[in-house]
Amino acid sequence: THRIFYQAHSVFSSGGGKIPLGLKRKGLRIVVTGGAGFVGSHLVDRLIARGDSVIVVDNFFTGRKENVMHHFGNPRFELIRHDVVEPLLLEVDQIYHLACPASPVHYKFNPVKTIKTNVVGTLNMLGLAKRVGARFLLTSTSEVYGDPLQHPQVETYWGNVNPIGVRSCYDEGKRTAETLTMDYHRGAGVEVRIARIFNTYGPRMCIDDGRVVSNFVAQALRKEPLTVYGDGKQTRSFQYVSDLVEGLMRLMEGEHVGPFNLGNPGEFTMIELAQVVQETIDPNAKIEFRPNTEDDPHKRKPDITRAKDLLGWEPKVSLRKGLPLMVSDFRQRIFGDHKEDVA
Ligand code: NAD
Ligand code: UDP
Ligand code: UDP
Repeated sequence: THRIFYQAHSVFSSGGGKIPLGLKRKGLRIVVTGGAGFVGSHLVDRLIARGDSVIVVDNFFTGRKENVMHHFGNPRFELIRHDVVEPLLLEVDQIYHLACPASPVHYKFNPVKTIKTNVVGTLNMLGLAKRVGARFLLTSTSEVYGDPLQHPQVETYWGNVNPIGVRSCYDEGKRTAETLTMDYHRGAGVEVRIARIFNTYGPRMCIDDGRVVSNFVAQALRKEPLTVYGDGKQTRSFQYVSDLVEGLMRLMEGEHVGPFNLGNPGEFTMIELAQVVQETIDPNAKIEFRPNTEDDPHKRKPDITRAKDLLGWEPKVSLRKGLPLMVSDFRQRIFGDHKEDVA
């Protein structure tokens, strides 16, 4: 088999980190690109709570100030409206690079922009990491496996990706971002980490972002039919956001470059997911079948042996436990005081 898993080289160590998680230390200066988005804002909460200083860099394409505004006024928090496609000068210890739309509806909206964000944006953040000696973590995706021919997916699998399809701006973009990350590591000695994230859900997802969990939950709450695409037999494995954030932080603080799959191995067909949503929100919710989107992967499930062994990480929140936590947030945002309408 091919060697695609890299151990961090100690010769490349820089001022960035190497402090085990949980150890008392002086707060770090950390950039979170895409920190006003769904995953980023939960990560920011954890970093601020740990005592670090956080700079969020976000262009608000899919992110919202509401996701981070509870930190406004905290001297350890800064928010910069900036597009990562443009260069950026900052002095920091760590960079969590999340900036990139994640929902297929969002990333297909302007595919060239998605490519630029993944390629030029990642290049800029790696250039920044190189200049200041910061440790850099890329949030890649299970989409690098494409429509996988191997199941479950192990990090050593090279994937089955259409280079000219409607999803390519995202999956090929992320593949290139991984390549850039490894080339800055090997060529310039930048300390890097790569996470391959599988479908993640939780509070603060955009309500109408077209992703299946946010769609089903919003539909059930609004008494609309749940829209199952295709025959509904395709599978995904759904991870609750707090598990992901824990995995990202362990990866950043750990000694291993990766790539690491971060996902929940619990695999569901879309029909099964619709049934869990019915059980959780409304047993009378109807299911409606719609044509599927182009190039939709048939199945996806992470093999997380590597993250278990090397990061001591595994997800703790099952779909049936996590879904209700997201439902209360959606209920409040859909029927509540409509805070999200404020610009
Ligand atoms: P999200 O859309 O909620 O967050 C992305 C954030 O990046 C938003 O705040 C957006 O405004 C910002 N952004 C987008 N383009 C930017 C640019 N050019 N410059 C600056 N900011 C920009 O998505 P998310 O679910 O929070 O995903 C975060 C990261 O995790 C993404 O890189 C995504 O590819 C990756 N990921 C997420 C999932 C998932 O299921 N949520 C799965 C795999 C990978
Ligand atoms: N870059 C940045 N901030 C920095 C350092 C670099 O945005 O603090 C950008 C820089 O503009 C360039 C990219 O990162 O487009 C890659 O930088 P690098 O120094 O690796 O390459 P070079 O500038 O030599 O092409
Ligand atoms: N999907 C669905 N109904 C929806 C939205 C999506 O059945 O309202 C399906 C979609 O066809 C895909 C799966 O759910 O097979 C996951 O889609 P999502 O956009 O959430 O994530 P991704 O395709 O990136 O894994």
